[in-house]
Amino acid sequence: QNKLAVVTAIQVSTQSENDDFVLEDVPHLTNYLPDLPAYPNPLMKSQAYSIVKKNFVSPEDVVAQNVVIQKESPRGVHFRRAGPREKIYFEPEEVRACIVTCGGLCPGINTVIREIVCGLNIMYGVQDILGIEGGYKGFYSKNTLMLTPKVVNYIHKRGGTFLRTSRGGHDTHKIVDNIEDRGINQVYIIGGDGTHKGASLIYEEVKRRGLQVAVAGIPKTIDNDIAVIDKSFGFDTAVEEAQRAIDAAHVEVESVENGVGIVKLMGRYSGFIAMYATQASRDVDCCLIPESPFYLEGRGGLFEFIEERLKENGHLVIVVAEGAGQEYVAAEGHAAGKKDASGNKLLLDVGPWLSDKIKNHFTMFRKMTVNMKYIDPTYMIRAIPSNASDNIYCTLLAHGAVHGTMAGYTGFTVGPVNSKHAYIPIARVTERQKTVKLSDRMWARLLASTNQPGFVASDQ
Ligand code: ATP
Ligand code: MG
Repeated sequence: QNKLAVVTAIQVSTQSENDDFVLEDVPHLTNYLPDLPAYPNPLMKSQAYSIVKKNFVSPEDVVAQNVVIQKESPRGVHFRRAGPREKIYFEPEEVRACIVTCGGLCPGINTVIREIVCGLNIMYGVQDILGIEGGYKGFYSKNTLMLTPKVVNYIHKRGGTFLRTSRGGHDTHKIVDNIEDRGINQVYIIGGDGTHKGASLIYEEVKRRGLQVAVAGIPKTIDNDIAVIDKSFGFDTAVEEAQRAIDAAHVEVESVENGVGIVKLMGRYSGFIAMYATQASRDVDCCLIPESPFYLEGRGGLFEFIEERLKENGHLVIVVAEGAGQEYVAAEGHAAGKKDASGNKLLLDVGPWLSDKIKNHFTMFRKMTVNMKYIDPTYMIRAIPSNASDNIYCTLLAHGAVHGTMAGYTGFTVGPVNSKHAYIPIARVTERQKTVKLSDRMWARLLASTNQPGFVASDQ
């Protein structure tokens, strides 16, 4: 029996080594340009790096997407490890970099901008860094400013984006014309899924024209809905700030009779903020997210649960993600189908809808008065500066992007995969959105801690 076990183990490892290793590589400028510059990395001379035991990341190093490998499961997808390379593609004095920020606000954008500028300047000696103002359209509306470590020194203390942002206005040809006209050879694009779709088009057009321009994305989304990477920047800060809204709702409802608090949090398609804020707070009785359909009436529905909690505790707090229950709000005749300038579907406001539904149900059908306290902290959360852990994370992202472009990689985005930073082909993060998996343990933990209904109808 022992022998059999050994043989099985060997078979698994042999199979893993040969058959099922997939490298999702990112393009390198030398892939489509004939010459292969390989300058020594100036970090070799830096004192900080001389004390690091292993200074440079080998271009052969990879990061595994799956770290838990079950018996006989394939080793699966790997990505190039991020970090400084011994040989770099660009001569620092020839670099003309630009940074642009697009889409909605998120804590930490300014830290990323600051650290791209400082990383390029201090680590590599790059002097020529442009800030493109007001999102993609800033490329062709000629709004730019020179960025130096001095200019960006304090910006991480402030929320928002120092470069301002916008939705819509992506015109690939005009943008690449402008990149060419200005002699830019490194483009750093900070934004979410839409921005990355735009970045991918820019990369393709740059490649088509045969330009020596590296295009790097830095994923930004407060909702944490970017695929592949462990977590997006600003998410920790958002969860922390959401506690303040939940605490306020809890204090309010504890102080009155039949207090019902509703806190609406961000999460258009993914309920990560709502789920983590609920788990962190422990004062939330029920968390509603887009991934988990819920219903109001009947056995096992939300109204029944609210009534039970009010009888038990005299109050309750509900956290609802903005994308939850959209089908109900739309079904009640609220205008659906509108889009923003970037073409994203505008969501209907579930918060006031849910508040009204609960109030009406208890007053009209249960002859109970509920004291409703509704809080929507969205803009307060989006606008704050990033917290300490996000600041460190933003720095790693920015430096990862700088090391990657200096080494000549392009068409990539950067982020941690199983806590190791990696270069990920842009298409991998735009092809799908990350959502809460109801079959995962985190959601099970939440259900166990709130003891809320699973909203599974009796016939399912
Ligand atoms: P978030 O959703 O987190 O606010 P986002 O990057 O998804 O961030 P969007 O407003 O959707 O925000 O897009 C930002 C920019 O990307 C806009 O300027 C928009 O024109 C551009 N963009 C969006 N989708 C595409 C696409 N499919 N192709 C090219 N450009 C796009
Ligand atoms: Mg988006």
